Amino acid sequence: MKFDPIRSLADMRHEFGEHGGVNMSIETSTTFTVMDPATMPEIFQGRRGPDQGGCFLYGRHFNPTVYVLGRQIAALEGAEAGYCTSSGMAAIAATIHQLCKAGDHIVSSGTVYGGTFALFHEYLPAKSGIDVSFVDTNDLDAVAAAINEYTRVIYVETLANPTLRVANIPALARIAMANNVQLVVDNTFSPLVLSPIQLGADVVVHSLTKFINGASDIVAGSISGTTKFVTSLMDIHDGSLMLLGPTLDPRIAYEISMRLPHLGLRITEHSHRALEFAQRLQEMGVRTIYPGLTDHPDHELLKEIGNENYGFGGVLCLDLETRERAYELMDLLQNEQGFGYMAVSLGYFDTLMSAPATSTSSEMPDVHRDRFGISPGLVRMSVGYTGTLEQRWQQLACALRDIGAVALSTA
Ligand code: PLP
Repeated sequence: MKFDPIRSLADMRHEFGEHGGVNMSIETSTTFTVMDPATMPEIFQGRRGPDQGGCFLYGRHFNPTVYVLGRQIAALEGAEAGYCTSSGMAAIAATIHQLCKAGDHIVSSGTVYGGTFALFHEYLPAKSGIDVSFVDTNDLDAVAAAINEYTRVIYVETLANPTLRVANIPALARIAMANNVQLVVDNTFSPLVLSPIQLGADVVVHSLTKFINGASDIVAGSISGTTKFVTSLMDIHDGSLMLLGPTLDPRIAYEISMRLPHLGLRITEHSHRALEFAQRLQEMGVRTIYPGLTDHPDHELLKEIGNENYGFGGVLCLDLETRERAYELMDLLQNEQGFGYMAVSLGYFDTLMSAPATSTSSEMPDVHRDRFGISPGLVRMSVGYTGTLEQRWQQLACALRDIGAVALSTA
C-alpha cells in the first residue's frame, strides 16, 4: 500500500488543549521555567528537552505550539521530525546554512522559485561562500557530473516552478546517497501529491504560505527530516534556527494547524479542477503544461512515484507565446470575467494567475529562462475551487476566445 499523508496525520497523537479542549492551546510564553536548577546546564546543552524533565528554554528556537505544527507537517511528509519557520525562504535558507559551510557546493535544479534562484545565484556565493551549479535535474547524468568533492546538497522542487517538470526523487536520492550528499526537496507545489521523504529525500521544505495554509493570509515555512537534523537546527552553537532566528509566531502556528484537517479535501478539489481545465484547454488547442496530461514528459513518472487520491496538483500553465497575449488573457480573466486574480503565489481558494517570466522567475537572466524553458508567454494558474467548475470554465473559455487563442467553433 502506498503512503497516505492524510492517514499518517490522523495517526498522530491528537493534541488537546490545556483544559482538555478539543483544540490545542497556544503557548505564547517566550521563556519557560526551569524547575530544578541542577538541570540548567543540560537544558542549555540541548541534552534535556521537555521530554527529558527539562524545558523548552526559549521561544526563539523552540516553542511547543510551533513544535506541534512541525510534527503535524512531519506526519504529512512521513518524516521523523519537523519544525516551522517564519517563511518558506527562512526554511530554505536555514536548511542550506545547516548543511553547508563556506567553500561547500550545491547542485540545484535550474528551475526553482525565483527567490530561491536569487538566494543560490547571488546571495549564497557572495555572502556565505557557498557555490551553486544549476543543472537540468531531469538529466540524471548531468546531476551526477555536476557533483564534486565539495558538494553537500542536491536541491530540487518536486514540481518545478513554473515548468512543472517532476523531479525523479528516487533516482536523485540514489545519486545523493552514492555521493554522500543530502537531497533537499521543496514540496511547496505538491503537498500530499508527492511525499519526497518516503521516496528517499533527506530534508523537505515547504512554503506553508501556499496550499498548506490555503487562504493567502499567512506567511510561514517548514522543515522536515530526521530527528538528528531537526535537533541540530536548534543547537545553541551552530543551529541555524537558534542563531539566525527565523521564528514562527505560535499564534500563527495554531492558525495553520487548524487548516490541516481540510487540506486533503482542498488538494483533491484543486487537482480535480486543474486536470479538468488542462484536458479541456488541450482539446481546444491551447498549449497547456500540466503533469496530469498524458503528453507531459513526466506524466508516467508522477503516476509511479505520486501518492494515490490527490491527483497531479493544483497548478497548470498555458503557453501563449508572447508576453502581450499572456497579459491580455489575465487582464480579461480578472477584470471582465471575474475568473481569478492576477497575483503571485498559489494554493489560494480562488484562482491566482501570474506570468512567471516577468514576476516569480524575473530574478533569472533571460538566457537562464530560455535554457530552462520559461517562455515569456507562460501564464501560471493556481486553480481555485470557488464557484462551480462549469461557471469557471465558461469564464476561461470566453477570455481565450476573446484574445483569439481558439476558434469560436472549438470553444
Ligand atoms: N518555494 C516555492 C516553490 C515558492 O513558490 C515560494 C514562494 O513563492 C517559496 C519557496 C518561498 O516561500 P515564502 O514566500 O513563504 O517565503
